[in-house]
Amino acid sequence: SPSRSSVVIVGAGISGIAAAKVLAENGVEDLVILEASDRVGGRIRKESFGGVSVELGAGWIAGVGGPLSNPVWELAAQFGIRTCFSDYSNARYNIYDRSGNIIPSGIAADSYKKAVDSAIQRLRKQEEEEGEEEKANRGHGDDRISSNRNNNESKRPSTPETPVELAIDFILHDFEMAEVEPISTYVDFGEREFLVADERGYDYLLYKMAEEFLFTSEGRILDNRLKLNKVVRELQYSKSGVTVKTEDGCVYEANYVILSVSIGVLQSDLLAFNPPLPRWKLEAIEKCDVMVYTKIFLKFPYKFWPSGPDKEFFIYAHERRGYYTFWQHMENAYPGSNILVVTLTNGESKRVEAQPDEETLREAMAVLRDMFGSDIPDAIDILVPRWWNNRFQRGSYSNYPIISNHQVFHNIKAPVGRIFFTGEHTSERFNGYVHGGYLSGIDTSKALLEEMKKEKERKTESQTLL
Ligand code: FAD
Repeated sequence: SPSRSSVVIVGAGISGIAAAKVLAENGVEDLVILEASDRVGGRIRKESFGGVSVELGAGWIAGVGGPLSNPVWELAAQFGIRTCFSDYSNARYNIYDRSGNIIPSGIAADSYKKAVDSAIQRLRKQEEEEGEEEKANRGHGDDRISSNRNNNESKRPSTPETPVELAIDFILHDFEMAEVEPISTYVDFGEREFLVADERGYDYLLYKMAEEFLFTSEGRILDNRLKLNKVVRELQYSKSGVTVKTEDGCVYEANYVILSVSIGVLQSDLLAFNPPLPRWKLEAIEKCDVMVYTKIFLKFPYKFWPSGPDKEFFIYAHERRGYYTFWQHMENAYPGSNILVVTLTNGESKRVEAQPDEETLREAMAVLRDMFGSDIPDAIDILVPRWWNNRFQRGSYSNYPIISNHQVFHNIKAPVGRIFFTGEHTSERFNGYVHGGYLSGIDTSKALLEEMKKEKERKTESQTLL
């Protein structure tokens, strides 16, 4: 029969590794980490492209320079990760129309202000409606909590119409929400953001964390408590323990499980729970939206775009919202690399994931020729990550509807029997970020250690009674 460990941790992203580290440091050495893919890091993932390391997942350390210190920024400093300051607030002054003209800064600033005002108005209106809806719901005994953001799109006080307005609306909502409502990351940790520009990758940080409690040698984790290519498919749980079954037919017994899979995976049918998860849990999981965020990398034989401190980001204004809107050059991170990055989200991400990369390359080149003229060279390489179709991810990060009530977070995080939940989506203040994943892992392990202590006390108590 399979041996039993104290804790099985499902997933070796930053939350899983942080959780394991806290357990190990507190004397729980008999743990097993099961990771579906062939590597550690999850949504922190570098790849060699065009002669440098590019980050397909998390790229920035967001929240630096504020009243509190961002723990991920501290780790990066401790491990000597190379970063460079990155400021996309200038993007709005580098908006190109389809004829390659730069929108005058006065017009851009006005449109931006209008968009921020209208977003704030919309938020207030939503909050009011929410209050009324909650009142009404209480009357009907209905426990529906927040209205979905998409449902509210039609109620916008002023709807963006021109390509410039659409482009600004897109960057405001998908990148700069901090201008509209306070975001804990920026309030607590500061408004500065740093791009990770390290050949060893952002995931070097995870390796250094792992080194402190797992056996490593020559840059590799060789500890047999970390098991790669183990796709967990079933969690059978009872009052006395949890049985974890993997796709390749392995069975692991544990006193407790920490589950760090993404919200997208929880919403999918990859994992079967036996008995099924309770209704309150399933409902909370359904209430959290999944954001798809795709960075497409393009390598060129030479640079044809303007560079310089205020030119790192630029915007393409098209009549279709989110159509190859948000661009970044990598000259600050890797001078001479001749790489551009264009970011797509949600519907556009899914559309592009479903088509061959040559088609995406063709579309991107047509957009660049609109902006910079027909003489520019063709890209010589393209990289299109597919976070949506990755069955171990099913999206990029959690995106709670703006007006989510505290109960949703509480329920997403709350343990079910001996199964504890962690991951970026369980962080009420910092969901969607690397530091959210990191802090949630620590939090979950602390809660589990507390529970283990109580269980031990209960056992000694019943023994003394006997
Ligand atoms: P994950 O890293 O997803 O870890 C979960 C692990 O579970 C994965 O390794 C997965 O393979 C594994 N798993 C899944 N299913 C199973 C299974 N059935 N059995 C076993 N293992 C399983 N954050 C920032 O702070 N700054 C950024 O700039 C930023 N940009 C981002 C850009 C993109 C494109 C993406 C995708 C994310 C970005 N994020 C950013 C968010 C950040 O990457 C995440 O919040 C964080 O890495 C999540 O860590 P996690 O441990 O919660 O989840």
